[in-house]
Amino acid sequence: NKFEQLGLSESLQRAILDLGFENPTEVQEKAIPLLLAQDTDMVALAQTGTGKTAAFGFPLIQKIDADNRNTQALVLSPTRELCLQITNEIKNYSKYEKGINVVAIYGGASITEQAREIKRGAQIVVATPGRMQDMINRGLVNISQISYCVLDEADEMLNMGFYEDIVNILSTSPDDKNTWLFSATMPAEVARIAKQFMSEPLEITV
Ligand code: AMP
Repeated sequence: NKFEQLGLSESLQRAILDLGFENPTEVQEKAIPLLLAQDTDMVALAQTGTGKTAAFGFPLIQKIDADNRNTQALVLSPTRELCLQITNEIKNYSKYEKGINVVAIYGGASITEQAREIKRGAQIVVATPGRMQDMINRGLVNISQISYCVLDEADEMLNMGFYEDIVNILSTSPDDKNTWLFSATMPAEVARIAKQFMSEPLEITV
């Protein structure tokens, strides 16, 4: 199986076997080796349903330092449903990793409970931009140490009016983080975000 050639850890390969994934999808085959081999920004043009969650999720899980409880990766996604779906997928993928915690942050649910989960130590936070900005403003989550930021369905997030929240979040997190932008289309607003916040991104299209 071609997953063995992507450079994934044994524990990830074990989880992949459990999930019954036989071969990587195109976006996984293109993105995973690049993201594992270097610290780089990336722009990936990919539709939903192409397996993009694993395309960024596997490299994130492998690159996170599980012994460090700080938030190291932030995944922004447009809706609560997508947030929960990504969080569940990352939990499944990281089932054999010790000490990796993933937390979902989204509007319309208790901010106190979400803050409590963050406080327990979540290396990976999956969030909608509005609630994320709210929690940053209230000092309930700290993104000053993140090394990775994934913008999932960037075109959808911008369609929903999250431009300012995204810009705020990207500008108040470390300049040297790696940003991985996934989008089905590349309208001007998405290109503007990429131009303003990413440096020499690798580009892949599926
Ligand atoms: P996504 O595009 O990330 O939402 O993934 C769409 C669906 O495809 C999800 O249910 C995944 O669990 C599944 N999936 C992701 N990668 C693979 C793969 N390599 N083989 C089979 N199914 C996959």
